[in-house]
Amino acid sequence: MNRLRKTTQEKVRHVLTFDVEEHFQVAAFWSAARRGQWDQLSSRVERNTRKISDLLLEHSTRATFFVLGWVAERHPDLVKDLAQQGHEIASHGYGHELVSTQTPAQFREDVRRSKQILEDLIGRQVVGYRAPSFSISSRTEWAISVLIEEGYRYDSSIYNRFRSAQVSKAIDTETYQLETKAGTIWEVSPSTMNACGLQLPVAGGGYFRLFPYAASRMFLKNLERQGSQLVMYLHPWELDPEQPRMDGPMLSKVRHYLNLGKTEQRLRWLLRDFSFAPINEVVRPIRNIIDGKDERSHANGASKDECVP
Ligand SMILES: [Zn+2]
Repeated sequence: MNRLRKTTQEKVRHVLTFDVEEHFQVAAFWSAARRGQWDQLSSRVERNTRKISDLLLEHSTRATFFVLGWVAERHPDLVKDLAQQGHEIASHGYGHELVSTQTPAQFREDVRRSKQILEDLIGRQVVGYRAPSFSISSRTEWAISVLIEEGYRYDSSIYNRFRSAQVSKAIDTETYQLETKAGTIWEVSPSTMNACGLQLPVAGGGYFRLFPYAASRMFLKNLERQGSQLVMYLHPWELDPEQPRMDGPMLSKVRHYLNLGKTEQRLRWLLRDFSFAPINEVVRPIRNIIDGKDERSHANGASKDECVP
């Protein structure tokens, strides 16, 4: 978890993120045949994402939206409206290909294309990236250099920091600066919890849908007592119980369709009970980049204080 130096009087602001993609684009159901049908399948992403932005507006909350370039091309007004409402627009790549199935050249083209599409729509720089299915690992470490060379300033795709990673500054185990020959980039990982040596993605929609809301609430309350911050992620399709069912492996079907009808109400309760904000606002090194106070010029590095909003 992201540790913050907080007094008990200060309210922790957690990080809320959404990966904006169609229900038929998830990696668990990927097939070459379905990939070929994307343009023929009925689109539900705009309606589902607008449901989320309405809900956030009701609770005066802003978030980070990692938008797929493919979606942005087809729903430009959605992206413009999200930006106008004060949400952070970041990149989820263009075609939702796993990093591990791309060559470095293909990956470069994918992240360059999505960044350009999003920046053209919102008229400002896109600095954040999240890989489909968090597919940056030690085997695809080259992707970090590509992101730096393509102008990204933070990544949110690494569950387990790999041993070979060169960390030049760290706020905690999940927010740190990676150093490569191409330069530096901040990593803002989704929160995990260590259970018997396994890093579990407890801050994802899968766990949010699996456990009763009371369990999520207790977990977050406990985090706040420790002065820790959650980096949470959800998908628009997780608030869409009516979405058409897809064929695929049984485990994928169970995980994808579990409790879809409960997500919206649980998200309402979450927004009522806790405070959330976008990455570029609540994670200070990223906020400094946005404000033009580049962390690279600070000789002493980042401190935990810099993560306090
Ligand atoms: Zn995705």
